[in-house]
Amino acid sequence: PIEPLYIGGPVIKGFGRGSKVLGIPTANLAAHDFSAILSEHTSGVYFGWAGLSTRGVFKMVMSVGWNPYFDNTEKTIEPWLLHKFDEDFYGEELRLLVVGYIRPEANFPSLESLIARIHEDGKIAEKALDLPIYAAYKNSPCLASSL
Ligand code: ADP
Ligand code: MG
Repeated sequence: PIEPLYIGGPVIKGFGRGSKVLGIPTANLAAHDFSAILSEHTSGVYFGWAGLSTRGVFKMVMSVGWNPYFDNTEKTIEPWLLHKFDEDFYGEELRLLVVGYIRPEANFPSLESLIARIHEDGKIAEKALDLPIYAAYKNSPCLASSL
């Protein structure tokens, strides 16, 4: 377990790579808003809960880092919400409570192996978040809508 970490902000446009290249959409947050927090956290894959103001609270698995496969020059925060949405939600307020860590950032020899690993991370997050110690955070006031 890690010290729970709260970050929130509007969902911004990324490179559009998540859904198009990987089939895995990630709701990007502006990393420069959290640079202090991020510099203290090792790059890698985390899991937790995601609150969307008008939609509810969902499980999420999140990459924090440089996306070595894509050679990014900026650190990014990219949560994949483990829920099927019928529409995009750019601009909406997204609140994240990060409660656990899965693995360090890694490079992959192929897109297929990267995608497979992300799906495995998703399954790990799904299961872990059902454990009482992590499930309890779903009801955190910081995830609730301010509406
Ligand atoms: P971008 O590079 O702009 O982040 P993506 O291909 O990663 O584009 O797609 C992310 C967008 O897809 C999010 O900003 C959100 O509006 C939408 N979206 C739809 N379903 C999901 C989901 N399950 N998890 C995260 N984002 C989702
Ligand atoms: Mg994205």
